[in-house]
Amino acid sequence: MPLLSPALDPRSIIVLAGVMGLLMSIVMFSMRRSYPPSIRGLREWTLAPLASFVSTVLFALRGVLPDVFSIVLANMVLFQGCILYYAGSQLFLGHERDTRIWSVVTLVLGVVLFWFSEVQPSYPTRLAVFTLAISWLFFAHARLYLRRRAKRVGMHLMTSLLLLQSLAAGLRCLSAVLGEAGIGMLDTTWLQSLYIVMYSLTALMLSIAGVLMATDRLRLEFEFMATHDPLTGVLNRRALIERCEREVIRAQRGDGDGALALLMLDADHFKRVNDEFGHQAGDEALRQLTLRLQTPLPPAAWLGRYGGEEFVVVLPGLGHDGARAVAERLRKEAGEPFTAPSPLAATGIGRLSISIGVAVFQGPADTLDALLARADAALYRAKAQGRDRVEVA
Ligand code: GH3
Ligand code: MG
Ligand code: MG
Repeated sequence: MPLLSPALDPRSIIVLAGVMGLLMSIVMFSMRRSYPPSIRGLREWTLAPLASFVSTVLFALRGVLPDVFSIVLANMVLFQGCILYYAGSQLFLGHERDTRIWSVVTLVLGVVLFWFSEVQPSYPTRLAVFTLAISWLFFAHARLYLRRRAKRVGMHLMTSLLLLQSLAAGLRCLSAVLGEAGIGMLDTTWLQSLYIVMYSLTALMLSIAGVLMATDRLRLEFEFMATHDPLTGVLNRRALIERCEREVIRAQRGDGDGALALLMLDADHFKRVNDEFGHQAGDEALRQLTLRLQTPLPPAAWLGRYGGEEFVVVLPGLGHDGARAVAERLRKEAGEPFTAPSPLAATGIGRLSISIGVAVFQGPADTLDALLARADAALYRAKAQGRDRVEVA
């Protein structure tokens, strides 16, 4: 298809791709500096388009530099760039970086490319070998994402791009094996132009997908921090109240038969824990306590930290009996002694207990403030009557 050739001169495309790679590397670099270290893989994603840029410079200098650089080294650097994208994804997804097998493949690739450019020159063989390797790498990379259940826009884009690239490289490999390779990389056949356009766009798109995923992750982390208590990991007061308000509105509307209950929990004699064992041990006790409180909760329930050692549980759909039963289970679970493997046993804290006040939604005229006040009053009674007990308002 000669018409395409003047518009899609491979050398220009390669140079353009390189510049795009460089620009993306700069974008990634500035992003990385402002992102928390909990978002991993950004270093690799910054270096990957940079490697891609270096490879395109080497490719474009074909005929100027010796072939060892413009063919063998260029392909190895490009492959290394793709490995870096892969390593970035491994880290981003919470795995350890493991690219040993791909380093071996790079070396083998180097030897094979050297042989078929210096000793027994054959562009089709080089093309077939390289596209086979890169198709395999892209597929392995895509598999990292395919194994993930929950995906968002960035991840979908990343997965599709990787699969597409793997397919394109696979087809290019097949075409080379079938004798459709053309005469060289800078050949202007439509197949070659298409392949090079695909490749140049992919470097850019992979970086965009990376930016999307990292931004998404950052937003999720901020959202989590804004709604969760840093010590115990349960809902913080603001998120808890918001959740309570939503549940009250639903109950007022009559959802779940208008049933709703609220528990107010308070650790007994917690001041003593701090006084006797230190604030650090007190913090650990609060962490262990919240872990215990989560076990007996029904799936629809919400647990949040209301204040220092005070927690609130919202129980949508439960009335008196159901709420009291949950409260009793919580009280019992919290009161179990701390034994050997528990970090609290080592500090000497043998047991904690909690008191619970229960309030039940009383119909459309009831409000969250009134519910909280009744639960608080019931809790006060539980304290006055000796603690480690449940009182219903
Ligand atoms: P009561 O049985 O009447 O509830 O007695 P109490 O000692 O638990 O009650 P009080 O409200 O007087 O004391 C609560 C203590 O909880 C005081 C405070 O030092 C401690 N506390 C609150 N938040 C934290 C926290 O985040 N970490 C630690 N270590 N202690 C906390
Ligand atoms: Mg207390
Ligand atoms: Mg208290």
